[in-house]
Amino acid sequence: MSLLVQKFGGTSVADADRIRAVADHIERNLRAGDQVVAVVSAMGKTTDQLVRLADDVSSTQPRREVDMLLSAGERITMALLCMALADLGIAATSFTGSQAGIITDGAHTRAKIVEIKADRLRATLESGGVPVVAGFQGMSTDRDVTTLGRGGSDTTAVALAAALDADSCEIYTDVTGVFSTDPRIVPEARKLPRVSYEEMLEVAATGGRGLALRSVEFARNHHVPLHVRSSFTWEPGTLIVEEETIMEQAVVTAITHDESEAKVTVLGVPDQPGLAARLFRGLADRGISVDMIVQNTSTTGTTDISFTVPGDDLAASADVAESLVPSMGATGVETDDDVARVSLVGAGMKTHPGVTALTFETLANEGINIGMISTSPIRISCVVRSADAERAVRALHAAFELA
Ligand code: ADP
Ligand code: ASP
Ligand code: MG
Repeated sequence: MSLLVQKFGGTSVADADRIRAVADHIERNLRAGDQVVAVVSAMGKTTDQLVRLADDVSSTQPRREVDMLLSAGERITMALLCMALADLGIAATSFTGSQAGIITDGAHTRAKIVEIKADRLRATLESGGVPVVAGFQGMSTDRDVTTLGRGGSDTTAVALAAALDADSCEIYTDVTGVFSTDPRIVPEARKLPRVSYEEMLEVAATGGRGLALRSVEFARNHHVPLHVRSSFTWEPGTLIVEEETIMEQAVVTAITHDESEAKVTVLGVPDQPGLAARLFRGLADRGISVDMIVQNTSTTGTTDISFTVPGDDLAASADVAESLVPSMGATGVETDDDVARVSLVGAGMKTHPGVTALTFETLANEGINIGMISTSPIRISCVVRSADAERAVRALHAAFELA
């Protein structure tokens, strides 16, 4: 008998038929003798619709109320799935994040889980029932409803799997696993049988969807076995595993792109110690995560500093930079929302020279200009024009023979 945490994403529960199909699947697992904890997302594009509704109603949007609103989507799904399970004669009980004992910090709209008190879920399992938990939400230590950031149901599932010491955490979605690149852009993309936690972290951090970044971090830190698979075909998908267990490391495993990045350049910064520190301290104090940074060498005693941030943080980043221009003695700030980041991820890069060269040659042959570059031991990222991003992904996918 195995304990399985099964998470069903938005497309997996998009309508009544899909919800009944999920209930059937859970029933099959129970009949095979396994225990199941289900974690559900909001149906289809519900969360996007709620975000739009908030935009239509309010320009201030207190974040506590945003969380109250967004957490409603998952509550709908959990109740409907329990009803579908009841029709099959299965005792299922729904739990909001708070009822499931998911305690978070108070950072509304991007809360972090601090503790899980899973005794109610354990009691349900022991009585032979199926707990169905609303993903993406918890309760803060001040007893307010919080949400975990977009894609947060993955994190709920992984955190519950860790707390319950589950045998597997299965992430059901609309594709059959993690692919060598987004199959919507490259139809020949290949399903990867195994990916290491480290590679999956880089994929999630650079815009490859499939798993939310926080959930992969959590899985790696708590050694939660992850299985990304399809709720349409139910076939075996991609296992996320410890790197040592993968015999043959591919040089390049996956190519990702992220069009939500934006670039800020502070112009004419005097070449003196302490100015970059002041700029990035200002950004950090506003809670802005900076990704790539480029500082040109100075020949004239001044230099330009460019950095990228999530597009949503562009206005705040420009604010911070502009407010520091006078005290830094810089000449101005430029912003560019029309950029995208294309990344290659692969553990085999560590031991194979030439990946960078082939990357640059491939982009050059396509006439694609590289604005910024950054690397880690298992990743190369290039900032390109947004309009070039998909072409870059296709060309790199072909050049590294990933199909
Ligand atoms: P869910 O609603 O189930 O959480 P997501 O939309 O978060 O699903 O993630 C699944 C989607 O991620 C797929 O439809 C696919 O188009 C996209 N995707 C992007 N890159 C990849 C990749 N490398 N492998 C698999 N899917 C990817
Ligand atoms: N419904 C939330 C979202 O769309 C959480 C999730 O689906 O993981 O981001
Ligand atoms: Mg998702």
